[in-house]
Amino acid sequence: MYTDLMFYIDGEWTLGEADRTSSVVNPSTGEEIGRLPLASKRDLDAALNAAARGFEAWSVTSAYDRSAILRRAAALVRERHEHMARCMTLDQGKPLGESTLEAKSAADHIEWYAEEGRRAYGRIVPSRNPAVRQLVVREPVGPVAAFTPWNFPINQAVRKIAGALAAGCSIIIKAPEEAPGSVIELVRCFHDAGVPKGVLNLVFGIPAEVSDYLIRSPIIRKVSFTGSTEVGRKLGALAAEHLKLTTMELGGHAPFIVCADADVEAAAALACGLKFRNAGQVCASPSRFYVHDAVFESFSLRFSELANQLKVGDGFDPATQMGPLANARRLTAIQALVDDATVKGATLLAGGERVGDKGNFFKPTVLTEIPVEARLLCEEPFGPIAPLVRFDNLDSVINQANSLEYGLAAFAFTASLKTSTELGNRLQSGMVSINHFGLALPETPFGGIKASGHGSEGGSEGLDAYLTTKFISQIGC
Ligand code: NAD
Repeated sequence: MYTDLMFYIDGEWTLGEADRTSSVVNPSTGEEIGRLPLASKRDLDAALNAAARGFEAWSVTSAYDRSAILRRAAALVRERHEHMARCMTLDQGKPLGESTLEAKSAADHIEWYAEEGRRAYGRIVPSRNPAVRQLVVREPVGPVAAFTPWNFPINQAVRKIAGALAAGCSIIIKAPEEAPGSVIELVRCFHDAGVPKGVLNLVFGIPAEVSDYLIRSPIIRKVSFTGSTEVGRKLGALAAEHLKLTTMELGGHAPFIVCADADVEAAAALACGLKFRNAGQVCASPSRFYVHDAVFESFSLRFSELANQLKVGDGFDPATQMGPLANARRLTAIQALVDDATVKGATLLAGGERVGDKGNFFKPTVLTEIPVEARLLCEEPFGPIAPLVRFDNLDSVINQANSLEYGLAAFAFTASLKTSTELGNRLQSGMVSINHFGLALPETPFGGIKASGHGSEGGSEGLDAYLTTKFISQIGC
């Protein structure tokens, strides 16, 4: 049911030197489901040399041929998505329905990049001298080092792999050690689709060791990281020291603003669905709920009712609506945030504690009357906790929403076009979604500002991230 845990280097599945391994655990049961090899420096050198050779060949393969291979990979993902989804529920814990959607949508992402890669247009700039021809061309930036987290193992990996490959780059991806199974199956689709040797390489290891080694390597020209702001700062500093381009998709603490004129039922239903999806372990998850005084009681009542009704359990149980937290660290972190808020005077409207003592299950949690000094209002919770805060005018709520260092996603509910426009203009956030959830599609940019990072994945911006500009001026032809 699971998969063989291996690296993929230079077109081969390998255990590498296999001198160290780590345990992969099912977060619903706490049981070990496999042992994962951790890369040695020699394994990383093999991946780097393969990526250098892969780049030489792939960067001069036509966009048309690259596109055909990517489309074959997308078709294989569609064929195999059920197995990929099962692997994800087994090692990451999310409900099988969520894993299935994520696996299927990987095919959409690959197809988008397969098409977009054929549109990496340059331009001709009119010259001052009629005999001179001035060309601006877009070229693949070079071998990429990519680091992806455990919350969306397939989605976070596929955006980097498909973007890099469509642009003509080779890539080494270090995927999450705690949830490796579905990424291995994703990479298998690219292999079986005919991606040439060395173009795509997959490793696991001690994260700090692998990133330090790869980013310093002169072979790597671009670094793409998804994870916490804290780690992003470190990797960004190292990449800057070595003058490597970066895309940083980091943490967030998204405001969800419910205005006085909002459709409260629709807002509460969407808020609950978004907040507790993937047990709240989503960088763009709403995590600060600002609700206008006029609708605060009705919203908080309905939202807590919905949260209390959610069925928490093993992701393979068809009745489950929220699975376990992906690892024991999150359990400790979430309990600490709840305790901090309640000790400081917050009121619990739902949840607030672990479910049972087996697996990493935590109740969907809703808090109100939260003092401003509670950590929950300024630290990214990354879990199933929803703090509800009252507001009474638009300026003050926009100021509160913008007051943190984060700027990834923001949400709002209002019946007014004027208010929607004002929120869209004034919220300091890389993405704003009003009266619905409209983020993370293959054809639209996904990314943050401020301490939530820089650069976008998705949309034409997602391809741009792997391209560089060359200017050619020629005479005499
Ligand atoms: P963490 O900061 O230790 O790790 C986050 C991710 O970064 C993991 O995938 C980890 O393997 C990787 N990582 C850590 N140190 C690294 C390094 N030196 N080089 C390369 N990769 C490294 O925290 P955690 O306990 O695993 O996760 C919790 C925090 O991570 C959350 O608070 C959240 O902010 C963040 N996170 C963000 C995302 C996202 O989508 N932006 C995803 C997962 C985790």
